[in-house]
Amino acid sequence: MDIQEFKRHAHELVDQIAKYYEEIEKFPVKSPVAPDEILSKLPVSAPDKSEPFDSIIKDFNEIIMPGMTHWQHPSFFGYFPANGSFPSLLGEMLTAAMGAQCMSWATSPAAAELEERVMEWLRDMTGLPSNFTGVIQDTASTATLTAILTAREKFSNYMINESGFLREKNIQFTAYCSSECHSSIEKAVKVAGLGRENLRKIGVDENFAADPALLEAAIKKDLAEGKKPLIVVAGIGTTGSTAVDPLDKIGEICKKYNIWLHVDAAYAGTAMLLPEMRHFIKGVEMADTFVFNPHKWMFTNFDCSAYFAKDREALIRTFEILPEYLKTPEKERVNNYRDWGVQLGRRFRALKLWFVIRSFGVEGLREKVRSHIELAQYFAERLIENGNFEILAPHPFALVCFRYKPAGISDEEKINAINEKVMNDLNKTGKLFMSHTKLNGKYAIRFCCSQTSVEKRHVDAATDIIITEFTK
Ligand SMILES: *Cc1c(COP(=O)(O)O)cnc(C)c1O
Repeated sequence: MDIQEFKRHAHELVDQIAKYYEEIEKFPVKSPVAPDEILSKLPVSAPDKSEPFDSIIKDFNEIIMPGMTHWQHPSFFGYFPANGSFPSLLGEMLTAAMGAQCMSWATSPAAAELEERVMEWLRDMTGLPSNFTGVIQDTASTATLTAILTAREKFSNYMINESGFLREKNIQFTAYCSSECHSSIEKAVKVAGLGRENLRKIGVDENFAADPALLEAAIKKDLAEGKKPLIVVAGIGTTGSTAVDPLDKIGEICKKYNIWLHVDAAYAGTAMLLPEMRHFIKGVEMADTFVFNPHKWMFTNFDCSAYFAKDREALIRTFEILPEYLKTPEKERVNNYRDWGVQLGRRFRALKLWFVIRSFGVEGLREKVRSHIELAQYFAERLIENGNFEILAPHPFALVCFRYKPAGISDEEKINAINEKVMNDLNKTGKLFMSHTKLNGKYAIRFCCSQTSVEKRHVDAATDIIITEFTK
């Protein structure tokens, strides 16, 4: 493809993308294809000869598009969104255009310095402590792994990096999170070599938040058995129901026993843009590390995870490595972000974040997040008003967990089965998409109102069809 062809196709594609967004509501939110349907349409081997771009695009439209679930559809209410926005998309275009590999300052000074600055912006915009330093990670899973590895190294005096786990020294680290915390914590505990059996899942209260008394009891028990409590992960907005662990109480416990405190606010962290929400992170100054995902609720397309650490030196000491071929000549202090996490090669993710923050403005971001929270409250009110539904957890952000629970039926298994079936039927209509979890054994439908372009009319349409389908 030469530059002239590139220009022609690029213009065509921008038109196609704009049309896609104009007409996105015509697509079924969730792709209706069956397993192998797409695979069977793809040639078994790669083409030997060059193919015209027009036929590649034709196949994209005919083969790939029907197999896509439309995460940017305003009626996407499932999971947490991976929301994007036009400024983000345009930033991503430039990232691809520059094609820079941003592993160190020298490999693209602007990328390193922009990342430093936008992470300071983000920290201050969300009311995080000014002694936190930020770095962009690909996902919250990676950020949590980074936190566990840093804690492991700091508490072992950087010896596990050097000599591996010393069985003879018998260091047995333990980790703690609530039973509602995200699976990425268990995965990180496995990968970091702590061993899954050393992760304590702490019981929760009636609001699905970690019970600090149970946490302290578990820590004491481990200490009595000669173990070393290493890290507590507090969830601010858990994935199941956006429960909020009591950060201040957990922080005090971590201080008392000298335990690393990591905060997983992957989704709800964005709500901290709103000063009235910051009581949820009371005590955050006691945290060692904190993660939230602009790629979930801050209109920055996947992937972009904001990771903040109090002890920058411990972070860098954990990951730093300097073979001859990576040495560069700067004398001044520069950020070489390859030393701030697992990966060496890094994409220029700060660019899209910068575009988003500048294009929306902090006030614009706040307005959108507030409107999402209001829409979720409105949705919950409509269900309550109907009388046949039950709200299953507090909903301070934009996620509502609910189930159909008519007065006449009390058999829990039957209620679960009805909810599961009708939710799947609703998703099959293509008019909306929701996902589920289990709360206290109850099948809970998760309705998350955080898609960038969701408006009241989409929530109304969804509520109408939910009520109709369940009560018909
Ligand atoms: C989504 C989510 C994660 C995982 O996020 P990734 O960025 O996909 O790794 C972790 N924790 C919580 C609370 C989440 O909601």
